[in-house]
Amino acid sequence: MLQQVNGQETSPLSCGNDPLSEDLQVFLGSDFQLAELDDLTKVNPVTPATVLRCLQERYQVDVFYTTAGCTLVALNPFKPVPHLYCPELMRDYHIAPQLQKLKPHIFTVGEQSYRNVKSLLEPVDQSIIVSGESGAGKTWTSRCLMKFYATVANSSASQETHETVERIEKRVLDSNPVMEAFGNACTLRNSNSSRFGKYIQLQLNRAQQMTGASVQTYLLEKTRVAYQAPLERNFHIFYQITKGASSSERLEWHLPEGAAFHWLPNSDRTLEEDCFEVTKDAMLHLGIDHSTQNNIFKILSGLLHLGNIHFDDSEDESQVCQPQEDAKCFVMTTASLLWIPKEELMETLRVRTITAGKQQQVFRKPCSRAECETRRDCLAKVTYARLFDWLVSVINGSICAEPSTWTTFIGLLDVYGFECFPNNNLEQLCINYANEKLQQHFVAHYLRAQQEEYAAEGLEWSFISYQDNQSCLDLIEGSPVSICSLINEECRLNRPSNATQLQTRIESTLSSNASLNRNKFSKDPNFIIAHYAGPVQYQIEGMVEKNKDPVPPELTRLLQHSQDSLLQKLFPSQEKEPNDLLGQSRAPVVTVVSRFKSSLEQLMQVLHSTTPHYIRCIKPNSHGHAQRFRAKEVLSQLEACGIVETVHISAAGFPIRVSFQSFLERYDLLRKSYPSQPRPSSRLPSSSPTKEHSASPFANLSPKRRWC
Ligand code: ADP
Ligand code: MG
Repeated sequence: MLQQVNGQETSPLSCGNDPLSEDLQVFLGSDFQLAELDDLTKVNPVTPATVLRCLQERYQVDVFYTTAGCTLVALNPFKPVPHLYCPELMRDYHIAPQLQKLKPHIFTVGEQSYRNVKSLLEPVDQSIIVSGESGAGKTWTSRCLMKFYATVANSSASQETHETVERIEKRVLDSNPVMEAFGNACTLRNSNSSRFGKYIQLQLNRAQQMTGASVQTYLLEKTRVAYQAPLERNFHIFYQITKGASSSERLEWHLPEGAAFHWLPNSDRTLEEDCFEVTKDAMLHLGIDHSTQNNIFKILSGLLHLGNIHFDDSEDESQVCQPQEDAKCFVMTTASLLWIPKEELMETLRVRTITAGKQQQVFRKPCSRAECETRRDCLAKVTYARLFDWLVSVINGSICAEPSTWTTFIGLLDVYGFECFPNNNLEQLCINYANEKLQQHFVAHYLRAQQEEYAAEGLEWSFISYQDNQSCLDLIEGSPVSICSLINEECRLNRPSNATQLQTRIESTLSSNASLNRNKFSKDPNFIIAHYAGPVQYQIEGMVEKNKDPVPPELTRLLQHSQDSLLQKLFPSQEKEPNDLLGQSRAPVVTVVSRFKSSLEQLMQVLHSTTPHYIRCIKPNSHGHAQRFRAKEVLSQLEACGIVETVHISAAGFPIRVSFQSFLERYDLLRKSYPSQPRPSSRLPSSSPTKEHSASPFANLSPKRRWC
């Protein structure tokens, strides 16, 4: 069947060879209106092919949202559909007496969460978990939901509170352009791709008005500051300042029109996201005044100049590398923009200091050209990462309400989806680890919800077995030994990392875990993890170094010596030295993995304490074209985001849902021939709105599944 689904496409909206076999079409009936099925659990029978076909038919008629049990599947329209997100429609969903009677929409999920908060005696926090691969529409969805809450949460505000609520909502909404300017970038897959994960909590008071919000971010892709893959770009903000600065700002920030920066590739391409004015206005609303903004943009410009400093090889190892002839002026401007002494900047980039011996003698060792450039990149990454974290804290300071003023929150989680590239390293391991955690949460919740539904229907049923991803999680994070613990151990041992040795250790200690494998045909050290969404091969080379994320202490010290008031805040002088990789301190090494693991654990704790709602965003094609549904790509996303898994769970339970009434009408005659035939104990909640099928729906089912 999947072979057929994966067949070639014949027209933009075709999904290749018909994913429905002839048998299935007979089974469904020729006049079966799949496009009218609002809930995938009503597709009968539930299979990847029917689910896919239903979504395709709906997409064909511009229906982008479909319910799938406790999940909403959201197909990216890749075209403006303003009527779908207008305030009038928001209100329609908000005031609908029976929400489920309206078409599935992100506003259904939004409103349901809002009602859950209100309808219960004890307020229960809600979470909306938006997932999907890059470009699928997660950030769009989260933004739209924030607007939805800003609209509906204000409609209940009294005259006196109206203005306050409106001001807070404005600030909450303004956090989006700021965070997107600094945290989003144009990638091959999405021109406005979020390069960080985000969990925003909208705080509500007893009257259900939004009194504030708080944001938590995860794993900013800071390497992008100093390295952009071919055809990709740096963070939007760099393009905004170089394109949008006024002439006086250009003078002050040393950004003459048309200046070329190494870290600013593809700047000839103008994007909607390049609008500097929007970011500056939003920053102002969030309380970041003109003078602070000026500091921020000066630092950013300093980083751009830093990126233009290239070195020549030194004549011998005892000599320091000299900046290339045309880079000398960039040394001056970087030092002036970051307000640090030029000589100290050069010394820090080119010389490593080593403290050794009982007398703590300090030795100077000139760096090679490659080392100089690594240190330059590291300086940019650490500065940008701290600036981003500081911005998030300022945003939180501006939008977060006093604890006494709110009772509940609705959380919106917008995190990177499952990733599998030709080369996968520590970043993908962290991202896929997060997705495994969310999948575990989803399966547990979904099963619970389904069990409750069956119990409410008074059905006798045995526990549904499902594909548990615990073994995979044990492999990644389990104790006492796991992939994370072994990578961390390598960092702690503080020895030159050897990828082959680490591969051997992983294999020898974790070989009993069925989720672990290795590509024996690859010459590079690697391991393969069988994720719920598919196997991913990880390269071990470079993983330990990335996990250490070393910041040479000299770099931090250099920035601590800056006269710039903002850099002084970002690098306070009393701060302890970062990861001491020279083994001079006894403090445990804080690695990328350990930091990520603890932030993930905190997030999971929060999610567990809330009622979750799931929105799975799907990209109908990887080119961002409207009206183009590529079955193969959609199917792999359905599998990767667990919809197919959900389908399997449904199938393990009761795949056929027929109302008691229609069952009786159709099969009553059997009862007459077999009077002892047992009658169903109760009616299952949903019935297919379709015509009765011409073939027996039970023909292909195992006896276990014939529930009636
Ligand atoms: P993600 O956050 O999942 O990477 P985005 O939310 O940035 O993806 O969406 C990628 C692009 O898809 C957006 O920039 C927008 O052009 C388009 N898009 C997403 N959702 C919608 C929608 N509901 N209606 C119209 N366009 C959309
Ligand atoms: Mg995004």
